[in-house]
Amino acid sequence: MSKSVAIIGGGAAGFFTAINIAEQNPNLDVTIYEGSNKLLTKVLVSGGGRCNVTNTISDPIELTKQYPRGHDFLLPVFEQFTSDDTERWFTERGVPLKCEDDGRKFPKTNSSHTIFNCLTNLASKHNVVVKLSHRLENFTHVEHGWQLEFNRLAVTCDYLVLCTGSSPSIYNLLGTKDIEIVPPLPSLFTFKAKDHSLVDLAGVSVEKSSVSIKEIKNSSENGPLLITHLGYSAPAVIKISAWYARELSQLDYRFTLVINWGSYDAHMLRELFKSYTVDRPKERIMSWKEHGLSKRLWLHLCQVAELKEYTNWSEIGKKGIQRLTSALCQFESQIAGKSTFKEEFVTAGGIDLSVVEPDSFKIKGQPNLYAAGELLNIDAVTGGFNFQAAWSGAFIAARSIALHSQ
Ligand SMILES: Cc1cc2nc3c(=O)[nH]c(=O)nc-3n(C[C@H](O)[C@H](O)[C@H](O)COP(=O)(O)OP(=O)(O)OC[C@H]3O[C@@H](n4cnc5c(N)ncnc54)[C@H](O)[C@@H]3O)c2cc1C
Repeated sequence: MSKSVAIIGGGAAGFFTAINIAEQNPNLDVTIYEGSNKLLTKVLVSGGGRCNVTNTISDPIELTKQYPRGHDFLLPVFEQFTSDDTERWFTERGVPLKCEDDGRKFPKTNSSHTIFNCLTNLASKHNVVVKLSHRLENFTHVEHGWQLEFNRLAVTCDYLVLCTGSSPSIYNLLGTKDIEIVPPLPSLFTFKAKDHSLVDLAGVSVEKSSVSIKEIKNSSENGPLLITHLGYSAPAVIKISAWYARELSQLDYRFTLVINWGSYDAHMLRELFKSYTVDRPKERIMSWKEHGLSKRLWLHLCQVAELKEYTNWSEIGKKGIQRLTSALCQFESQIAGKSTFKEEFVTAGGIDLSVVEPDSFKIKGQPNLYAAGELLNIDAVTGGFNFQAAWSGAFIAARSIALHSQ
């Protein structure tokens, strides 16, 4: 009789595991059990409906640098299956990818439906059985495998792969099985400003900001920054929210965001302003153009620095230079909460990586039990890296099961 594999969760990790097992060992019976009545929900909404499948960064060391949680564990993982392998995998199965200037890779069709169709068609081609509305409620080890309890059904399988994403009930269930869980909390979010002093500038963005969190030593991220109606967004903020997800949670998302609006060097800026007091004494400060910011933001920062509309460089004085430099390089904004970024978020936390074998994605000490995807304590900044971790883990788990079962 053929051996059976039960995959719990019909998301990216679940489908990728199922298809790769079926391709590598067609003698196995593979079933995906999905708790809801829909498949690949996150794939469909991902990347604004375009699905940011992966990224051009493919060197395993460079790739691991995109993961606030999981970087050490992922090095041997990406040495086995990296972003180039993801691109090859999809291209060979009729889905060529295209690359954007920032390194993100999408299907050439620009539609997440292409990824959805690719995964569901391949699963069907390889006789993977898909059962919707089958929510796993418990699993227990039995001789040669696992007994699974769904809403109204119990089945047994030889191999069990958990791909349930950030499902709280599965975290609780795993806790009862002595599988260590790092407490889950959100990552990839935007900041809500308390008494938003810049609300009138909502929509204004800067290309080269650097931001830091006053309460967290050495915290700093660079990149575009957007002032929103609620507070701040765009890559600089999203990245710092991911790298300090745990610390920000401990601060209850109440902290001081320090903004350098142009990644300026404060010392050089002070010297430049000093030189203007001699070189261009009669020029109005507000007319200065080389700041690289939008006019509205520049005028606002001049007001923050208490400069009058007609103040010229000869009148600025030492204190005025100090205030203007601070407004440009160390603008402080009180943050009192978080919000989502284009509805995109990931969960930091999940199965503790010390119990996962990176060569097989097998859970240590649990016979024939595997896990892949967001259920593990792995998460990344935006750019296709979260899917990449899911593809890599799922491929390695599948290869291990396919080989082991032969
Ligand atoms: C709006 C949005 C956009 C995103 N865009 C991108 C992007 O462009 N690029 C990128 O890299 N990442 C993106 N991400 C993150 C990415 O979607 C996830 O990292 C990825 O989907 C994780 O895949 P997964 O299979 O592990 O989990 P999921 O996709 O969450 O799938 C888990 C599945 O398991 C099912 N399940 C849960 N519990 C049970 C149970 N007890 N029994 C049976 N089934 C169960 C769930 O219903 C679900 O279908 C985005 C996330 C969001 C929310």
